Amino acid sequence: MHIGIAGVGLVGRVLALNLLRQGHTLTLFDEDTAYGDNAAGMTAAGMLAVFAELETAESVIFEHGKRSIALWPALLEQIGIADAYQQEGSIITAHPQDYSELDHFIETLKAKVDEASEIQLLDRKELMQLEPDMEQHAKAFFIPQEGQVDAQRFMKASSDYLLNHPDIKWHQEIKVEELKEGQICFTGVCEPFDWVFDARGLGASDHVEHLRGVRGEVFWLDAPEVNITRPTRMLHPRYKIYIVPRPNNRYIIGATEIESEDKSPMSVRSSLELLSAVYSMHSGFAEARIVNMVTNCRPTLRDNLPKIEQGKKITRINGLYRHGYLLAPAVVEEALNGGILK
Ligand SMILES: Cc1cc2nc3c(=O)[nH]c(=O)nc-3n(C[C@H](O)[C@H](O)[C@H](O)COP(=O)(O)OP(=O)(O)OC[C@H]3O[C@@H](n4cnc5c(N)ncnc54)[C@H](O)[C@@H]3O)c2cc1C
Repeated sequence: MHIGIAGVGLVGRVLALNLLRQGHTLTLFDEDTAYGDNAAGMTAAGMLAVFAELETAESVIFEHGKRSIALWPALLEQIGIADAYQQEGSIITAHPQDYSELDHFIETLKAKVDEASEIQLLDRKELMQLEPDMEQHAKAFFIPQEGQVDAQRFMKASSDYLLNHPDIKWHQEIKVEELKEGQICFTGVCEPFDWVFDARGLGASDHVEHLRGVRGEVFWLDAPEVNITRPTRMLHPRYKIYIVPRPNNRYIIGATEIESEDKSPMSVRSSLELLSAVYSMHSGFAEARIVNMVTNCRPTLRDNLPKIEQGKKITRINGLYRHGYLLAPAVVEEALNGGILK
C-alpha cells in the first residue's frame, strides 16, 4: 500500500519502521525538519521504566511496556544502532528521612503486579557491587528488567535511515492542515493514500478530543566526577528525579511534570529543585557542567493512557504521555494489527 504518515516524532518513526518491514511505500509529513528537534521524542530520556511507572499508571501500561521492551532491539537493529539499547536494570533510592516514601513506592508496585516481587532490596554493600559510585546510599531497590533507549540516537539514526530509504518520500517543514479518510491535506491540497496515520502528538488537538500537553523540563549535565551506569530514581516527598546516564559521564536529569502547554525555557523553581535534588544525591554533581536545558510537552489524554482510533482508511495514535518510549512499539504493533487499546 501507499501510506501517508502525518507527524514523524516518536510514534511516526516507529510506525514508518514497521510499515517498511511490511513492504509498504510511505510519504511522511512533519512541520519540523527530518531531525525532529521539536518532537517530544527528542526531549525524552528514553527510560523503559516498566515497573516504576506503575506507581501512577494502569496495568495496561505494564503489559504494553513489557511487549515494547521485547520489540525495541529489532527496531534499533533495523536502523543500525543495536547498542542504543540498555537493559541492565534500574535503581530507586531515597534519603534516610524518606525511606517510608521508598517503601510505600515499592509496596504500591507489588500490589499492582505479581512480577514486582522480583524487585530486589539492596543494602549499601549490595548497591556498591552494582553501582560503586553510590556509596552514600544505605538502601535502594534494584529493578532488573528495566532499561533505556538512547532517545536522541534513535531520533538521529531513524532520520538518516528513513531519509535514505528508497520507499520513502519525506515532506519536511510542511504543516498538515487536516487528515480525513485516506487523505492528508497541506498547503490547501489533499493528497490521496491507501491509508493514513495521524501521529502528530500534541499537534493533533484539533482532531483528538481532550488532548492536553504536560510540560516536562530536563537538564543535560557533564559530570566527570560521577560514574553511575544505570537509570536511577531518587524519591522525595515533593519531587521525584531521575538520572539517566549517557556515554562519557553525561547525564539527563529530569523531569518536571507540570499541567501546562507552555514550552518556554525552564523556570528558576524547576532548575533549583532538579539541581539541588541531584546534588544531594551525589556530591560529584557539584562540579558538573550544564550543557543543555530542554523543555517540551507530553501529549496526554484525560486518563493518561494511549489511544488508538481506527476509522475508514485512517488510524490515529495519541496520548503516549510520559510513556512514549516505553509503549510506542507495542501500541504501534496493536494499531497495525487493527486492535483498539481501550
Ligand atoms: C521531558 C520529557 C521526558 C520524557 N521522558 C520519557 C522517558 O524517559 N520514557 C518514555 O517512555 N517517554 C518519555 N517521554 C514521553 C515521550 O517523549 C512521548 O510520549 C512521545 O514523544 C510522544 O510521541 P508522539 O510521536 O505522539 O509525539 P512527538 O514525539 O511530539 O511527535 C509529534 C510529531 O508531530 C509533528 N507535528 C505536530 N503537528 C503537526 C502538523 N500539523 N503537521 C505536521 N507535523 C506535525 C511534530 O513536529 C512532531 O515531530 C518524555 C517526554 C518529555 C517531554
